[in-house]
Amino acid sequence: MKKFITLLLLSFLTLILVLIVRTFTYQFKKIEKTGDNEVVLTAPSEKAIRRFAGGIRIPTISNEFYEETNFGPFEEFMRYLSDSYPEVYKVMDTDTINTYGMIFHWKGKNSTLKPVLFLSHYDVVPVIGYDQSIITDTIFQLNDKPLPPIQSYAIKWDYPPFSGAVINGRIYGRGTLDMKCMLFSLMEGADNLIAEGFQPERDIWFAFGHDEEVSGRQGAVKIAEYFKNKELNFDAIYDEGGIIAAPSSAIESIKVPLGLVGTGEKGFLTLRLTIKGMGGHSSMPPEKS
Ligand SMILES: [Zn+2]
Repeated sequence: MKKFITLLLLSFLTLILVLIVRTFTYQFKKIEKTGDNEVVLTAPSEKAIRRFAGGIRIPTISNEFYEETNFGPFEEFMRYLSDSYPEVYKVMDTDTINTYGMIFHWKGKNSTLKPVLFLSHYDVVPVIGYDQSIITDTIFQLNDKPLPPIQSYAIKWDYPPFSGAVINGRIYGRGTLDMKCMLFSLMEGADNLIAEGFQPERDIWFAFGHDEEVSGRQGAVKIAEYFKNKELNFDAIYDEGGIIAAPSSAIESIKVPLGLVGTGEKGFLTLRLTIKGMGGHSSMPPEKS
């Protein structure tokens, strides 16, 4: 019996010893330094702003009656795009769908991966009570005091809707939000990455429709058929988002402000956080925690 107790005591002491030694010699894993502190510049360059404003100036207005559309500006817009982004056109394969729909294909390094598709459209809705043929001289003021608003244009427009005016950090015009913004963001992004010698891992496709505001039957639908014929399946598709609407605004029937949470659009983010510190209990916090 005595022997047994001694043995038990000895093993207990050994355990204590091991615990103490382990506690004082425990090494925290070294954290590899990643490039997290790198500053990413998000402010657009003047060149980018000028290219975008130039696109706003082309009045690609959709018409309810497709046959009555003035396609002149659409042709001009397509020319403008290829003149503005020659490198993108050099690196990517391009195609036109139903004359005005535009397709870009950026080949990735790994053809076994499913491609991703980015969408946009470059038609805009008409401006009621505004002479659409008026395109004023360029107003371009980066970081300057605002000019006095031009009063002679339709009430809601401080600057003509096809001026692409850049005033005091704002860009004015039809399509700045819906949806030339996304189109030019994609082109700028690609242009910048191409200049850095970047090639995507998987194939990237861009598709820009020309009649989204009046159903998309001549643009988006035909583009979808094109991809279907190619038997292309995408890993992800990114498109224009929903809106945040107030009562009596865009969606008349709503009674409270409504914002669509575009989960499919936003995707998700998984983070692993590693924190190095002392253990303990919140009831007895150390001086510094
Ligand atoms: Zn739109």
